[in-house]
Amino acid sequence: MQCPFLDHNQQVERFCINLNCCEKLRLSCNQCHEESFHIGHQKDQKLISNLSNFVEEISNKCEKEVIQILTELSDQINQMIFLLKDKIRSQFQISSYRLKTLNNIQINQMLCQFINLNNVSQEIIELKVVAQILLTTLDERIKNLDSNQLSYKQQSSWDIAEARQYYIEGLTLFKNGDYVKALSAFDTSLMIHPNQIDVMLWKGDSLYYSNSYQDALMQFKQVLKLDQSNINSLYGIGDCLYRLNQYSEAICWFDRILVLNSKHAKTLTKKGDCLQKMNNYQEAIFCYDKALCEDPSKFWTIQSKGSCLQELKKYQEAISCYDKALMLDQNNQIVKSQKSYCEQMLQK
Ligand SMILES: [Zn+2]
Ligand SMILES: [Zn+2]
Repeated sequence: MQCPFLDHNQQVERFCINLNCCEKLRLSCNQCHEESFHIGHQKDQKLISNLSNFVEEISNKCEKEVIQILTELSDQINQMIFLLKDKIRSQFQISSYRLKTLNNIQINQMLCQFINLNNVSQEIIELKVVAQILLTTLDERIKNLDSNQLSYKQQSSWDIAEARQYYIEGLTLFKNGDYVKALSAFDTSLMIHPNQIDVMLWKGDSLYYSNSYQDALMQFKQVLKLDQSNINSLYGIGDCLYRLNQYSEAICWFDRILVLNSKHAKTLTKKGDCLQKMNNYQEAIFCYDKALCEDPSKFWTIQSKGSCLQELKKYQEAISCYDKALMLDQNNQIVKSQKSYCEQMLQK
């Protein structure tokens, strides 16, 4: 690499990482050195051969000290809002079945509680005002970063072929399990050539597999803006909500897929998983059965159906499920121990 000073006919030797450096350029050659550039902060001159290490170091630091904190913050906010919605629902929504089981005192209490809805809705308006402050601050930060974004990215002659190269690089990294680096490759690809649905979905998967479920969820929602009936993004949203333990919300998204394709086996299984988590074993089995109609040899679907039957104390049926699963994977320890538990229960 040539020294950027045109009259210096030499190769770059060092780069400067000093915080307060006011030299024109951070790259320097031996002649720069002789002319005493960066003289006040020699210790911050790094050999150019260390550049890629430095880039990696910054990338890791960014992930650990910034992105992770933001992820935790957004998880906390989402979790709190989720709990708040749950509490409000449980106070103001009551099923017609449960209503029939209440006695006069309970109905009286219920009515007293219902009167409170106006207060709650007033509190939510106040909450929106507080939230607006945070939203405005975030918006300012984004705009700041936008205006600071260096033009080095736009200056090079990037094109669609280059975007594709980053995409392929991302796929390779993803397959090797390096999700954070894959994410950055997909990001670069999308920066050069935005709104590529395939790349956006892989970006969502990278976030998902790095356990950033909230970010993955937002990414899948971005895809939905471009293609409202994209099954992969609908599934991704549902799956993230499942990971975030928001089972009934997840089911709403899986149902949107099932409207488009009622035989989507993967979705039927995942919907079953949500129902199982909500202790609704009967309906879970119904979903697993439908999934198994489409794809009879899915090990985990069979195993999950067995677990539900076991919960319902239908041990004989559970055992026959586990036997089917063991035909697909005869050494699976989880299924083996589930089966022997059922056998013990039958002997009692
Ligand atoms: Zn120079
Ligand atoms: Zn300097």
